[in-house]
Amino acid sequence: MTAVLIDQVGELVTNSPEHGTGKLGVLRGAALVLDGPSVAWVGAADDAPSADERVDAAGAAVIPGFVDSHAHLVFAGDRAAEFAARMAGQPYAAGGIRTTVAATRAASDEQLRANLRRLVGEALAQGTTTIECKSGYGLTVADESRSVALAREATPEVTFLGAHVVPPEFTADPAAYVELVRTDMLAAAAPHARWIDVFCERGAFDAAASRAILAAGIAAGLLPRVHANQLGPGPGVQIAVELGAASADHCTHLSEADVGALASSDTVATLLPGVEFSTRSAYPDARRLLAAGATVALATDCNPGSSYTTSMPLCIALAVREMRMTPDEALWAATAGGARALRRADVGHLAPGARADIVVLAAPSAVHLAYRPGVPLVAGVWQAGQRRQTLRVSN
Ligand SMILES: [Zn+2]
Repeated sequence: MTAVLIDQVGELVTNSPEHGTGKLGVLRGAALVLDGPSVAWVGAADDAPSADERVDAAGAAVIPGFVDSHAHLVFAGDRAAEFAARMAGQPYAAGGIRTTVAATRAASDEQLRANLRRLVGEALAQGTTTIECKSGYGLTVADESRSVALAREATPEVTFLGAHVVPPEFTADPAAYVELVRTDMLAAAAPHARWIDVFCERGAFDAAASRAILAAGIAAGLLPRVHANQLGPGPGVQIAVELGAASADHCTHLSEADVGALASSDTVATLLPGVEFSTRSAYPDARRLLAAGATVALATDCNPGSSYTTSMPLCIALAVREMRMTPDEALWAATAGGARALRRADVGHLAPGARADIVVLAAPSAVHLAYRPGVPLVAGVWQAGQRRQTLRVSN
């Protein structure tokens, strides 16, 4: 294995308080050594050991690769017209998913694979080194099964979301669809998936259906996560906490009891500000969750309907500007928070033994991610020690 020394790091964010200052574990004038797929050493540049290869970061900031814990990347078509209509004043409703379902069912495996790869590549170029990917635009046994199988080609963090919306052919008998999801569809999807998810929302799946589907998934060996409390108050967060879900995602409409339940559990509150941005809706109250002591993650929710972005830097900028998270809180949520939402101990931080997922920013500090919105600051990416993007920093 080749050891690589990344030297002259202006600001190194480790997310490991024992290696630096504060919750972000920040080191200035730092260096780190990658050995094969893992981080071998972090510390002051002056103390750095020698390595086979040296990379001069030229004073740039270095952060852990982003962990995007919520994305829907297996689909065909786009919904630009729906977006334009919404921006012209039409409200967002869950049913728009059906448009993508029709396009996805009609697409070939090769078309779905090409779109998935394009989006994962887009995310990687913006610093995302771990990404979760859901099914949920097939909604037949065969189409959900191929969706999770395709997703598994791109990432190990695959989520079966047969319970995304009731497809049109089951409108007259939604209970029959719930039964299909928790039996044959789950059986076909489970071998390719790590997670089970339900869109628990008015217009999608109610509390009883959500519980039944999640329980079946858990019995099949999958771990639960829940789309909860996005469009209005509802039972999603309570169900997520009750079942020990890794994450309750959206959390836009929370009661005091919901906030308390999240704060006193291991269930991460995953906020998806790209959705509120793209649907022109009120943002979740991140400060209330943080004040209560809940663990907060940020993710893109990349999907063609309500948030067609793969950019974690955009989500950080929105979290800071619109949700009043501090730049430090937003960066932590987009890295370590995402890792917690995926129950991953190997990513989201940079300390010896962690996976060598590293982003070099064309900026002297990570604050620039929010301070310079829309600017492509990701200047270099290593994923599991593999260089994925040519470094372009210079002073
Ligand atoms: Zn989603």
